[in-house]
Amino acid sequence: MSVLVFGWRSGAGASKMDPGRLFPLMDAETEAGAGLAAALGGRVEGTLHTDLVTRLLYATDASNYKIVPDAVLVARSVEDVQAAVLACGELKIPLTPRGAGTSLAGQAVGRGLHIDTYHLRGTVIDPDSHAAIVSCGTVQRDLDDEAAGFDLTFGPDTATADRATLGGMVGNNSAGTRSIVYGMTRDRLEAAEIVLADGSVATFGETDGSMASGMLEQLENRRRELQAQIAQVEDDARRAGVPPAWLR
Ligand SMILES: Cc1cc2nc3c(=O)[nH]c(=O)nc-3n(C[C@H](O)[C@H](O)[C@H](O)COP(=O)(O)OP(=O)(O)OC[C@H]3O[C@@H](n4cnc5c(N)ncnc54)[C@H](O)[C@@H]3O)c2cc1C
Repeated sequence: MSVLVFGWRSGAGASKMDPGRLFPLMDAETEAGAGLAAALGGRVEGTLHTDLVTRLLYATDASNYKIVPDAVLVARSVEDVQAAVLACGELKIPLTPRGAGTSLAGQAVGRGLHIDTYHLRGTVIDPDSHAAIVSCGTVQRDLDDEAAGFDLTFGPDTATADRATLGGMVGNNSAGTRSIVYGMTRDRLEAAEIVLADGSVATFGETDGSMASGMLEQLENRRRELQAQIAQVEDDARRAGVPPAWLR
């Protein structure tokens, strides 16, 4: 093995050997990355990475696609996820949650912020109701190993079970060899606690009709609000002299 040792002189010619110039890409930060660092720095328990080396590690999944994200948040809590969702909304930066990144069609790649859920792990099993509460970064094999102690199994069994996360399985509606007998992930999912675009947390599960009609009413109210806002924007634009054809 040969080893090259670089030294650099002070004075004339020093800048040629400046490590910052030798490896300029190592620190390259995008504008979106800098915005996220300003918005999230010191406000998350997890770690925000904006350096190119880390971002390159998240640029692919198991597909042929490659898109280098602007930043990666290795989240440590639901609050971290909430803060990241809010920051992305305010800065208009796309967001991609990421489990093990074993997707085959580019589902786990994208610009903007990646939220790595590796540390969001945990399983509580209630053998009496044959149910488990899991955190999204929990690996399928870990859940199955714990469930085996109660003579239970999750059911869907991906070929990537030793790394695929429950969050990623829900995202992909993952299946696997046992799915013909046990169904796909959606068939085993009772409810999901979700961080919404406004940073709030909501639980989605089976509902009765009354709840659905309540939600429809809320949506209808929201539609009216948005319609009024659009009309206001159009009015303002007209008053500012924007040609009517551009407002269609
Ligand atoms: C060799 C190989 C074999 C495979 N075999 C199978 C198989 O047998 N059956 C099968 O179904 N699939 C299979 N897959 C595809 C893939 O492994 C599975 O779909 C797996 O369940 C994905 O899990 P993941 O943690 O890697 O998810 P990721 O790839 O990280 O994410 C999947 C999707 O879910 C989203 N997501 C991840 N976490 C969250 C979260 N917490 N909240 C919201 N969204 C989230 C991501 O944004 C992405 O859209 C295989 C892949 C490979 C490479």
